[in-house]
Amino acid sequence: FNMLITDSISTLPFVGPNYEKKLEKLGILTISDLLHHIPHRYLDFSKITKISDLKIGEVVTTIGTITFLRNQPTKSGRLMQIGQIEDDTGKISVAWFSQPFLTRMLFPGTKIAVSGELSWFNKNPAFFSPQYEKIDDNHETVHTGKIVGVYPATSGLSSKWLKARIKYVLDRIEIENKLDDSALKTNKLLAFSKAIRKIHFPENMDDTVKARERLAFNEFVDLLTKTKERKKKLIKKKGISLKIDDSNIKNFINNLDFKLTNSQDKVIDEIVEDLSKKTPMNRLLQGDVGSGKTIVSAIAAYATYLNGYQTIFLAPTQILANQHYESLTSLFPNLSISLVTANSKLITNSNIIIGTHALLTKTFEKVGLLVIDEQHKFGVKQINFLQKTNPHVLTMTATPIPRTIAQTLFSDMDLSVIDELPKNRQKIKTWLVPNEKRDNAYEWIKKQVSDYKSQVFIICPLVEESESETLKDVKSVKKEFASLQTIFKNLRLGLLHGKLKEKEKNEVLNKFKNGELDILVSTPVVEVGIDIPNATMMIIEGSDRFGLAQLHQLRGRVGRGTKESYCLLFTENDSMKATNRLTALTKTSSGFELAELDLKLRGAGDILGTKQSGFGNLKIADWSDTKLIKLASEAVANL
Ligand code: ADP
Ligand code: MG
Repeated sequence: FNMLITDSISTLPFVGPNYEKKLEKLGILTISDLLHHIPHRYLDFSKITKISDLKIGEVVTTIGTITFLRNQPTKSGRLMQIGQIEDDTGKISVAWFSQPFLTRMLFPGTKIAVSGELSWFNKNPAFFSPQYEKIDDNHETVHTGKIVGVYPATSGLSSKWLKARIKYVLDRIEIENKLDDSALKTNKLLAFSKAIRKIHFPENMDDTVKARERLAFNEFVDLLTKTKERKKKLIKKKGISLKIDDSNIKNFINNLDFKLTNSQDKVIDEIVEDLSKKTPMNRLLQGDVGSGKTIVSAIAAYATYLNGYQTIFLAPTQILANQHYESLTSLFPNLSISLVTANSKLITNSNIIIGTHALLTKTFEKVGLLVIDEQHKFGVKQINFLQKTNPHVLTMTATPIPRTIAQTLFSDMDLSVIDELPKNRQKIKTWLVPNEKRDNAYEWIKKQVSDYKSQVFIICPLVEESESETLKDVKSVKKEFASLQTIFKNLRLGLLHGKLKEKEKNEVLNKFKNGELDILVSTPVVEVGIDIPNATMMIIEGSDRFGLAQLHQLRGRVGRGTKESYCLLFTENDSMKATNRLTALTKTSSGFELAELDLKLRGAGDILGTKQSGFGNLKIADWSDTKLIKLASEAVANL
């Protein structure tokens, strides 16, 4: 055989165009992808028991011969398959549901293995819907009689089918060792080929742990190698070395109506130094919501302008692009600044050009700096910005990315962190409100609105009434809006969600901004960047469904002015776990601390927004495994 790990999946028997499409949906295109599609849990069927030794409630495998198997209709009109197997010690009943084809496969005399838990059926001990497998004396079992991996089920691809394909491949392929030198040197890691075999067909539970560890190591190494290569390419590029006009920049800073924080000063120094270098800057600026990242990027844009180059500002949404436009025009009344919308004609010679990712496909004459705001909202794709020049790139995010993750995922970038808030900021008082106090909370809000003319955000997790059971207790924003209108019948309410047209979104937001609405009911689309200083209260419904970092960013929409601000967390989930997580939010106002905590409690998905964007998505490894990340970076450094 000469099957290669890089071969297309379509070279396998039983994988026609139909299955190929289904596999593609799982991201499986090659044999290697298939082998890296690993079980998400394991069933231990390794205990093989004679029929006379079976005990109710035990999960075991029994091997015997079919004595009979027949279809029998149930009261509801479905078919059950009822039968019996025997070995040299006794007989036991077996039963399946709605699998009539079984009677055409498992004839009397067929030798099979069944795995599962022995329970009761028709007052007799029985295997109910067990895993089964025909036994042929020359072949070992795949689905029974051992520890059996269960693969994430996806439409039309059963775990059993996947396992059979993987088994087919493993029986034929020779797996070349990958990265074994470095992995084995760092000791205790399994060899790669062994790990691939054991992750699918472990002999014991310890195998599954060791195999996963080894494959996770490779995944980190791959990731790090990719970023290292990107960095190498970047260093070779010839960028634009800007002359830094110190006095002009100082002047600009001194004329601001606030004093920059020490943190802002520090990151501005780092950025300005980058701008003066010959290699293009590639820097990630992290800073909590409200830490003042915009002014930092504005100063970089100013330095760029003073050298006769353009700055492109990318925002994740049109709303935020509009807001940047307002801030920048008021900071730089004398510069030509243009806002690009879906309808506007592109002005290519402005000093600063602001827009959404649609700008990425355009080329401009003299771009010196590209600022990307809230990068994680753009998703996985590497930003490919085709320009005549090699501009400096400043990426900004309010997502508090834990250091270990940042250093792995973004090791081709330099990191700058703003780790303090402007002095005048107040803590946002955050409460976890028990359901029985909901009415009191509503009354309190009414009073705040009428006494202080304060404004309120009410955030709901989803737009449409969801059909899925796990989401059934989530209030849909539309339904919630209708009921809130009766609760707050003397107040003015607006509704904002992602399915509204751009124009409608802007209308609602502008009304809220201008004080024509008291309450804005919204999905998490208000999450990033929106600046409405008079909004001082936020209610978050279904708050347990959000990651802590995301909740923290959400509540950052209030507390932007000088008034005392509040965030009220509602949830129907009163489990200890949810309560503990949410309580952390009431006690901590550091986005980084919350992100670290979420990393421990829920994994990295919530922090990085993996679910939406696939950003930072790991297949096998886990971001919380800092030890392995360290091993992998050492290995890459030695490559
Ligand atoms: P973010 O980092 O979340 O993007 P912004 O840049 O929008 O935050 O800043 C939030 C608000 O804080 C803006 O109104 C901005 O003008 C103001 N701001 C920025 N830096 C300072 C500072 N050093 N002192 C006081 N206010 C500041
Ligand atoms: Mg911002």
